[in-house]
Amino acid sequence: MRVGGAAEWLLEPKTLDELAKAVQAARESGMVVRVLGKGANLIVEDGVVPGVVVATDRLNLMWRPDSSEGGQALESLLDALRLGQRPDARLAPQGREEGLRLLALCGATHQRLVSTVMELGWSGLEGLVGVPGHVGGGVAMNAGGKWGEMWSVVESIIVVDDDGELRVLRREQCEPSYRNGNLGTKVVAAALLKFRPDEVHAVKQRTREFLKEKNAVQPVAEWSAGCVFKNPDPAVSCGRTTGRLVDEAGLKGRMLGGAQVSPKHGNFIVNTGAATASDVLELVRIVQESVFERFGVQLEMEAKVWRAEVDGARAPRG
Ligand SMILES: Cc1cc2nc3c(=O)[nH]c(=O)nc-3n(C[C@H](O)[C@H](O)[C@H](O)COP(=O)(O)OP(=O)(O)OC[C@H]3O[C@@H](n4cnc5c(N)ncnc54)[C@H](O)[C@@H]3O)c2cc1C
Repeated sequence: MRVGGAAEWLLEPKTLDELAKAVQAARESGMVVRVLGKGANLIVEDGVVPGVVVATDRLNLMWRPDSSEGGQALESLLDALRLGQRPDARLAPQGREEGLRLLALCGATHQRLVSTVMELGWSGLEGLVGVPGHVGGGVAMNAGGKWGEMWSVVESIIVVDDDGELRVLRREQCEPSYRNGNLGTKVVAAALLKFRPDEVHAVKQRTREFLKEKNAVQPVAEWSAGCVFKNPDPAVSCGRTTGRLVDEAGLKGRMLGGAQVSPKHGNFIVNTGAATASDVLELVRIVQESVFERFGVQLEMEAKVWRAEVDGARAPRG
């Protein structure tokens, strides 16, 4: 969205061990810990965000685990880390249809993930094309849409648990739902993803078609936090999506300061260049109020808001 202020503390771990230690140390110091992926579903308030922000950019490794490890690849990775070994991303070449798994650390980008599986002709994640983000953010938010979502390919994940330990959680132990990985305060460190074999040209074609359709209806080249609101229960909204409710309420194109309800898609608020977080959040409030008055539908936010303290209330310490 390109609005908002600074973090009081910013930590950029580059190993899973550093990630766990960063989270644990911050929590032990009584500080609030926030995890920053690519920031593609985030609105940060103006001012200083108190506590610790842990950024996942440097945890961007992604590789095909040895096919002999099967679904145990994350357990093997944790064992290796406990022995002080670095993950081996240079494994022997494997046949295209062997294993069908990718192991991604939380900072690997969706873009790289989608293009890697497309080149392999593996199916299951075509629907994530054009959805910006990191794997950790995608798992935490269960990113996706009408063509599929992240958790449809998740076999297991490594999380930093509330006690600061790295643990494997298998798919059956998790309860992801619509746009929510339901992981509470756990930090996603890595994910093991399992795909279906297909033909390379078929996966490429589907991926390109989905991207074309997405580009046609969403303001993908503008600064935004993606869909601001979840789609409401169709029974309550008479089958209308949020985009349609906003459109029918006459709010498309509405400006407030530098923020605008996208003329292209009613569920996007874009920063036209000089928006502040206050502009964006005031526009969010106006949209919620207008849609409620007109249709009696309470729009729930999908984008996350990080509350900040007013500039100068607490100076950044590092
Ligand atoms: C143009 C555009 C189009 C989009 N289209 C879609 C779409 O079609 N479908 C869709 O679902 N989304 C869409 N989005 C939103 C966004 O791409 C997804 O929600 C994405 O998964 C966010 O990932 P991120 O890494 O940027 O997370 P961030 O925005 O950095 O964080 C989002 C939330 O996840 C938490 N989080 C991030 N990383 C971790 C982690 N490692 N462990 C635990 N919590 C973590 C953060 O603390 C925050 O609460 C779109 C966004 C844009 C800008």
